[in-house]
Amino acid sequence: MTILSSQRCKRGFTLIELLVVIAILVVLAGLLLPTLARTRERARLTACENNLHEFAKAIIMYRNDFGEMEMPDWLSDLHPRYLDNRQVYLCPADRSRGADGARPADIGFEAPQLEELDDPNLPCSYEYQFAGRAVSAQWDYRGYGITNVPANATWKEVKFAQMRYGDINHPGAYDQTVFPMMRCFHHWATRRWRYPAQNKVMGLTINVAYAGNIFHSPFWWELPLSELQEE
Ligand SMILES: [Zn+2]
Repeated sequence: MTILSSQRCKRGFTLIELLVVIAILVVLAGLLLPTLARTRERARLTACENNLHEFAKAIIMYRNDFGEMEMPDWLSDLHPRYLDNRQVYLCPADRSRGADGARPADIGFEAPQLEELDDPNLPCSYEYQFAGRAVSAQWDYRGYGITNVPANATWKEVKFAQMRYGDINHPGAYDQTVFPMMRCFHHWATRRWRYPAQNKVMGLTINVAYAGNIFHSPFWWELPLSELQEE
């Protein structure tokens, strides 16, 4: 009898021990998983910024050949002479591997997705602001006070005029270190800002400025960060 009861006692202790171990594992997993996810997201952000640095260097080389106030018509014009690594065209946060174009399918934009290159065999995750396609059908630039451009202007012509002369949101020439020539919208969900004046929530974009530096801004880059609250 003594032996039996001691065995029963030992078995009960093992079960409790198991439950305690499971509980500890659940708590540890709960603590570690968000940290792991954050680490992974930071690695993606760094890789995306490295891609954008490669584009900045390629565009600067292109301008060295064609003139300071010249830009390629398409991002694919850089490949392969100025940018031979096709992986650079893909943001690691872009799960569609370039099939969604410059913007994720779930971003909730009204305008249709626009191609950033003229090579359908080169998938691309990045939006190119100075593209050579006509702008008039998509955006009323004259309504934004941008008038120093010919009729049926291209995005490139509109962007140069906006950068030199400003627009309704920004009278006068833009600062070339904050005027974007390329941006990644696939990173829009990683940081959120609230815009109290319109009660809107917006995400992060990563930009390459005309001067070649990288900067982060809210989804609506025309809004200064001072008017936003980070969530
Ligand atoms: Zn990205």
